Amino acid sequence: MDARLEAIRDTVLARNPGEVEFHQAVVEVFESLGPVHDRHPEFLEAAILERLCEPERQIIFRVPWTDDSGRVRINRGFRVEFNSALGPYKGGLRFHPSVYLGIVKFLGFEQIFKNALTGMPIGGGKGGADFDPRGRSDAEVMRFCQSFMTELYRHIGEYTDVPAGDIGVGGREIGYLFGQYKRITNRYESGVLTGKGISWGGSLVRPEATGFGTVIFTEQMLRTRGTSFDGQRVVVSGSGNVAINAIAKAQALGATVVACSDSSGYVVDEAGIDVALLREVKEVQRARLKDYAERRGGVAYVDGGSVWDVDASVALPCATQNELDGGAAARLVRGGLVAVGEGANMPCTRDAVSVFQQAGVLFGPGKAANAGGVATSALEMQQNASRDSWTFEHTEARLTDIMVGIHHRCAATAEEYGEPGNYVLGANIGGFVKVADAMLAQGLI
Ligand code: NDP
Repeated sequence: MDARLEAIRDTVLARNPGEVEFHQAVVEVFESLGPVHDRHPEFLEAAILERLCEPERQIIFRVPWTDDSGRVRINRGFRVEFNSALGPYKGGLRFHPSVYLGIVKFLGFEQIFKNALTGMPIGGGKGGADFDPRGRSDAEVMRFCQSFMTELYRHIGEYTDVPAGDIGVGGREIGYLFGQYKRITNRYESGVLTGKGISWGGSLVRPEATGFGTVIFTEQMLRTRGTSFDGQRVVVSGSGNVAINAIAKAQALGATVVACSDSSGYVVDEAGIDVALLREVKEVQRARLKDYAERRGGVAYVDGGSVWDVDASVALPCATQNELDGGAAARLVRGGLVAVGEGANMPCTRDAVSVFQQAGVLFGPGKAANAGGVATSALEMQQNASRDSWTFEHTEARLTDIMVGIHHRCAATAEEYGEPGNYVLGANIGGFVKVADAMLAQGLI
């Protein structure tokens, strides 16, 4: 790493003790930014990096609620409003027992660059709670969401901060959160949340957007090598919103997705995952992948283990951070891997990324490859602002244009800085320069 940036990195790490995921995200970005500071010494003089690493605002709050037996439960809620140089804070809410400040800050930090890469006027933020919706009744999830919004409502707004979904927060949760916001504020402010239901302000394609976008970005990478998804053997991790829609799109483009996972195990389905059945099991019944295997019949279900033990030519990690390490990466490379598109945020460890890059595997980092979700959220905000709703075809065409544009921006930036094909460098520099220019123009903020 550039010596000037090392000193700033050390200060940032010391100021944020114990936040290992945030440290990882910061270091990964800093490793790309040396060449930018050679060309733009004004960024160093204006302390852009120090300011970027310090969130504009961090909110932590108590979320009290009662479970179905009447017992009082307490969770911790978070919203980190990281950077508003390009627009209102924008980023999802994660409900998962592992959530703490370090996770929310890593996600919010990545979101700044991701949102800049989309070319849309949105800043970076992220939030969530250490609440586990799994196994909770609809009534419990509703009471939790209502309590969460009873505090969050005072910090958000169409022009201030616009949350969306993430792990554990889908259409059901966004509905409960929006209902409570509307009730407290007495305003039908559609643009305050994205990922809404289609009949009440949501956008077509938003549910599919992150998974579809990841596949579109990966297809663009494959095309630089004269190939495509057609005929590829694909492994996807996760079986949630991003994973299911990535599987659907990859198969629509002619690939066979032979495996996917949840946090309990993975399924190997050599004929190709049955997307309709997977949606039924996971989205309608909220059941487990094991149930998919039982209903599908004739497929292998592995309890525990790693889905990355299955050979593939394309890997799409779509579950969670640090789920694919250096050992798994080396094994995938030996099995004939040619491309990786990160549907999840930071699913590959730094070791895994170096293994892929050294082996010449095409590697699309999450902040570029999974930006289709937030980009379509910005399209939802556009539709809300103009009291309009677009067709599926029109919205999907916009998403495709945006993903092709992000690929082009990353590839062109990597080339400009002398490392063609390095999408990590292209995404980090491309996103950073846009935000840094806006921060410089807006004075000491
Ligand atoms: P979902 O909650 O819909 O699905 C998450 C999936 O990942 C589930 O299959 C879940 O398994 C699995 N998973 C979660 N945590 C773990 C874990 N610790 N170990 C193993 N498996 C795990 O979330 P999304 O699909 O929305 O999000 C997936 C990833 O994509 C996250 O990294 C998120 O930040 C990122 N992302 C999401 C966007 C969106 O639009 N939703 C936008 C951009 C990025 P189980 O069911 O067993 O918990």
